[in-house]
Amino acid sequence: MSAVKIEITPDILNRIRVYAEAFASCRPAILTLFAAGAPDATDASDASGASSEDASLFPFAADSDRGLGILLLASALHRPGAPGSAGFGAGAASVIAGLYRGYGNDVFRLNRLPFETLRTRTDALAATWDDAERARIPGILRSVCDFFFRVGPLGTWLADADWEQRAGELAQEIYWMGARSSTRTKARLFFWLACQIPGFGARADMRPRALRFTWPVSDGHMRVLFDIFKPARGSIAALRRPEGRGEAFAELARRVFPDEPWRLYRPFEAFLCPDGQGGFQCRAVQGGCRPCALAPLCPAAPHFLARERAS
Ligand code: SF4
Repeated sequence: MSAVKIEITPDILNRIRVYAEAFASCRPAILTLFAAGAPDATDASDASGASSEDASLFPFAADSDRGLGILLLASALHRPGAPGSAGFGAGAASVIAGLYRGYGNDVFRLNRLPFETLRTRTDALAATWDDAERARIPGILRSVCDFFFRVGPLGTWLADADWEQRAGELAQEIYWMGARSSTRTKARLFFWLACQIPGFGARADMRPRALRFTWPVSDGHMRVLFDIFKPARGSIAALRRPEGRGEAFAELARRVFPDEPWRLYRPFEAFLCPDGQGGFQCRAVQGGCRPCALAPLCPAAPHFLARERAS
């Protein structure tokens, strides 16, 4: 079967680049907790609400083996579609941060520590999660720690094989990471998080793998697809299939940002995505619809522009 392609005009390509540029300073919540990854003063729109103490919670670099371990723990707890207004992945980041405060570096060996103590702590840290999600947390985290013991240093593991193969290993070997999922969203999210570390995706040992990788696809991607790109009728069925749309968006990301294709995920994920406070994440990042480059194409813009004019 031939690959499905998302057609893009030069005008839309430019608009997407300008729209995406506003997300360049937005860091996922978990990355705001590293000393070297603390947000600067302009980094408010996607911040986690972390205090200055939280901003140096992890005393190692995000691209160290331990730092990558923290990102894997966070991506294993990620709940697609639940980023909320407190920063992308804030719920998972808050649980991992709370565990690190209690366990320190023992957070990487939870599989060897008492299960009941872990469950008591995660129940408290995830009190607002729904019951089924909260009950799975200790098992997921212990499974990630089992994985650490099996594979050794994560930096070497990432540099040693194609990332599609590695995403498959994560999905198969870690509990609730997508063993039966055709999209492997949580596993793919780990690679995306790693590429949010400044310079990580450009490293000589990572770059060839990052340029080939298929990034996660969210509900926001599908909203962009149908509201902005308006694909031809003939390709709609193929783009609805998870296998077809993953590679189609990856190819689109390489056209929009040839050197940094991972940059397209978050801007598309935020497109018309509720922020949990009655608004949309894209509007929070763009500063309203008026400055947004997608406004002439966006179906929600007329409503918000009328409101902005009236205020
Ligand atoms: S709702 Fe507003 S900010 Fe969001 S994409 Fe549409 S025009 Fe841009």
